[in-house]
Amino acid sequence: MPGLDEKLHDIYDEVLRRNAGETEFHQAVHEVLDSLGPVVAKHPHYADAAVIRRLCEPERQIIFRVPWADDQGNVQINRGFRVEFNSALGPYKGGLRFHPSVYLGIVKFLGFEQIFKNSLTGLPIGGGKGGSDFDPKGRSDAEVMRFCQAFMTELYRHIGEYTDVPAGDIGVGGREVGYLFGQYKRITNRYESGVLTGKGVTWGGSQVRTEATGYGTVYFTHEMLKARGESYDGKKVVVSGSGNVAIYAIEKVHQLGGTVVACSDSSGYIVDEAGIDLDLVKDIKENRRGRVAEYVEARGGGARFSASGSIWEVPCDIALPCATQNELNGTDAKALIASGCTIVAEGANMPCTPDAVRLFVEAGVGFAPGKAANAGGVATSALEMQQNASRDSWSFEHTEARLAEIMRGIHTRCLETADEYGSPGNYIAGANIGGFIQVADAMLALGLI
Ligand code: NDP
Repeated sequence: MPGLDEKLHDIYDEVLRRNAGETEFHQAVHEVLDSLGPVVAKHPHYADAAVIRRLCEPERQIIFRVPWADDQGNVQINRGFRVEFNSALGPYKGGLRFHPSVYLGIVKFLGFEQIFKNSLTGLPIGGGKGGSDFDPKGRSDAEVMRFCQAFMTELYRHIGEYTDVPAGDIGVGGREVGYLFGQYKRITNRYESGVLTGKGVTWGGSQVRTEATGYGTVYFTHEMLKARGESYDGKKVVVSGSGNVAIYAIEKVHQLGGTVVACSDSSGYIVDEAGIDLDLVKDIKENRRGRVAEYVEARGGGARFSASGSIWEVPCDIALPCATQNELNGTDAKALIASGCTIVAEGANMPCTPDAVRLFVEAGVGFAPGKAANAGGVATSALEMQQNASRDSWSFEHTEARLAEIMRGIHTRCLETADEYGSPGNYIAGANIGGFIQVADAMLALGLI
């Protein structure tokens, strides 16, 4: 593989051999190894002590059967996963994804990314991820509840406040976390709030957790703009997705003076040059669990829906991919660059293909990788854990101020680390190296375990 230092090349070959067919995991590992050349050159002990090789192998991988009955009484079988990747800095922490595309390779890519992201927050959390190939779309509330109960009936024995603390991700929001926590509580007979995050604010959840990933991504881009002497004022923004991350990214962009002109779901995208009416999107996606196409009829006027083509053809100053992995490819990157886009920040995990990332970097577009830009979600989950541990609950204003401060800290750390390792202004190098060093040092301190 071009670009990798010889020692890192051997590690990557081993990852390919040991994890055959897990292409998303390969991509995530390569992206980190690609940044570590200057680190092993400066500190050969990281390679000598096999820290990087150990990092690429999860500490524990759990795969289990999830049997449940649908509304017709038919037995359905899904597969559940929890990959406990690295606990050098704290209990495994990372979300659960319910989506038909979920398999071990997706969970491992997400778990691997989570290690560095969590490290960057500066909070004491390790990295993990889980989920199922269950598709919640079109399922009744009762079916989702029975599925969540069946999933937790196995998962509960592997998790705990000091062991592994799951949260939401694609397909897992407040409703699902509620059913999961309810089943955990029933099985264990313990009100152990700190075992899951993303809980409702009236039963152990934190203010701002719902908003945190989207808000955090926009706070991060705000820092990028400030570093260039700019602001959100008057900026045109495109946000893909219309789920949890996208909705709250749109909200914060509008609060900071920018205008979001397009968003999407898996059936297509909508464009509204007057600015997306977020209350309408929330009603369609959060309340009705409908499709974004419904926006056009309800809104009228100049809004349009497109079921084909790409949302990245819509001209903008700032692009925030907030839907899913590999949703923005080289062709999309070229279209964005041609339309004058100067900042791209990943609200989703790994939404830009390696090709797209290369093009952005070559064109001088400010590019923030997900492990830095979307770390606000997990950071606020860690704040939820703090509140649970002290049986406290903080105000919205206090929690949001903590989130903003954490995002500023990650931004500074990325730039300082990139400078130190010879890639000034490169957020990819800064995030990967900054996240790596803290975990690697902890692993070395803890011995060969
Ligand atoms: P949601 O399930 O709330 O929303 C996902 C959105 O992406 C939906 O609009 C969905 O459309 C759309 N989408 C999913 N798959 C595709 C696809 N193949 N093509 C186009 N659109 C698609 O998930 P989240 O908002 O929580 O997560 C979005 C991303 O952010 C993921 O990459 C996740 O890992 C990442 N992330 C989430 C965090 C969180 O706190 N929730 C934290 C950090 C990262 P539809 O409605 O049609 O399914």
